[in-house]
Amino acid sequence: MITSQEYRERIKALRPNVYIDGELVSRDDPRIEPGMNVIALTYDLPQEKKYEDLFTATSHLTGEKINRFCHVHRSTDDLMKKQEMTRLYCHKSGGCIQRCMGIDAVNALSVMTYEIDQVHQTEYHQRFLAYLEYFQENDLCANCAQTDVKGDRKKRPHQQVDPDLYLRVVERRKDGIVVRGAKAHNTVAPYADEIIVIPTRFLTEEEADWAVACAIPADAEGVKLICRPTAFRPRKLLDAPIAHFGDVESLTIFDDVFVPWERVFMCGEQEFGGPLALLFALYHRHSYTGCKPATSDVLMGMAALVAEYNGIEDEKHVQQKLADMISVAELVYAAGIAAAVKGQQAPSGTYVPEVIYSNVGRRHAGENIYHEFEIVADLAGGLSATLPLEGDFLSEETGPLLAKYMMRNPNISAEDQHRCFRMISDVICSSMGGVSQIAGLHGGGSPVMETITVLRNYNLEAKKRIAKDLAGIKS
Ligand SMILES: Cc1cc2nc3c(=O)[nH]c(=O)nc-3n(C[C@H](O)[C@H](O)[C@H](O)COP(=O)(O)OP(=O)(O)OC[C@H]3O[C@@H](n4cnc5c(N)ncnc54)[C@H](O)[C@@H]3O)c2cc1C
Repeated sequence: MITSQEYRERIKALRPNVYIDGELVSRDDPRIEPGMNVIALTYDLPQEKKYEDLFTATSHLTGEKINRFCHVHRSTDDLMKKQEMTRLYCHKSGGCIQRCMGIDAVNALSVMTYEIDQVHQTEYHQRFLAYLEYFQENDLCANCAQTDVKGDRKKRPHQQVDPDLYLRVVERRKDGIVVRGAKAHNTVAPYADEIIVIPTRFLTEEEADWAVACAIPADAEGVKLICRPTAFRPRKLLDAPIAHFGDVESLTIFDDVFVPWERVFMCGEQEFGGPLALLFALYHRHSYTGCKPATSDVLMGMAALVAEYNGIEDEKHVQQKLADMISVAELVYAAGIAAAVKGQQAPSGTYVPEVIYSNVGRRHAGENIYHEFEIVADLAGGLSATLPLEGDFLSEETGPLLAKYMMRNPNISAEDQHRCFRMISDVICSSMGGVSQIAGLHGGGSPVMETITVLRNYNLEAKKRIAKDLAGIKS
């Protein structure tokens, strides 16, 4: 395992291929720092004794202690620990921990490479295991680039006016392949070591070129990361932990990128494109049953705190709203626990979370995200939108006046009140708040995708049988 300092140095040494607002920037650009600070937590905290059991694991390949974000789940307990770890990390960062992209991709590949080999007598699984060992030894941080830019949503990859709208193989060489295309909304990519590419959807027989999975160094020749940074508002005077965090998504362009065979984990086996896409989504939705309850915890904590500061915490409507938030957080988390407990071992030896519980959990989270933000906005009143700036609270002239006129409860100091409202404003009335809402809705797949998965996998016929039996219908 490496330290956060080593992680930062490694990332900053990458070839500049990050573009922000029309400029090619190096990875020490201050707009990337808040995202990197989030990932740094995943290198710092595992070094602490109290987090060792949850945040580290034992590699099944080498027997060495590794960061849990590099681990392939070997039991239902591993699945549960990943979920618990995710919730705890997100409490520390005040939002998405981002490194789940890598662990979810690696787990999906550990299952699917084995299954492709059984059918095609290929050697993907051995290649993948060699890559996994390297991944674990170097404590790598990875993005998963799944979502293609997709062009016309109603058209399949081979029907698009431009075939590059879904990433595809454009050349097969003796020593590797060349891929071209673009993947959208890639979290963590500008401060990740690796980009793991997998397909985004089911593929038909004529779509073998689109059936590709591989791992690419984030600064490989031909990779261009066009990035949109977002961060909580920086503080000038009243520093707070949350003010140091943010995230960056990239539109990742693969402009004829060469990938050596040892990093290729699927190439042309089109019938496995859909299963791999769905399996990554399953792991990722299970991760959401850890991170989304944490987002709810942050929102719920702010809602309860501001209700207390406003003196309305005992009101019936407030209690009702807090109960709504508790229900969302804990039902989603409970679904994740159920998915872990009911998880099953794939032939490769990796554990896979149960599909229905993972998907209903993620769906419930996605459908409630705006409701949770609405409750905080409701209980905080208009101040989260109109809060005077920090300098006015600390100025000799206006500070005492603001303390006098914004006072709600004389037992709460003006500074604590200021801190509470500033955090609420930063979380719900900011560009970061907007990104969190949309990430809560679409990240891991929009709720409609979970609806489709649930309906595909759920045994409704069995439910009809129950009704028929009770009604005395024999057929
Ligand atoms: C903050 C954030 C971070 C993310 N991080 C990552 C990441 O790191 N890696 C990654 O791979 N992805 C990532 N995603 C992508 C995420 O998984 C997608 O946003 C999600 O799958 C939806 O895809 P889309 O954005 O292309 O929306 P679209 O697919 O364009 O969806 C828009 C609407 O169109 C509907 N629709 C789409 N296709 C059809 C169709 N054929 N028929 C009928 N209706 C249709 C959808 O249901 C939806 O209602 C991230 C997203 C966000 C917001």
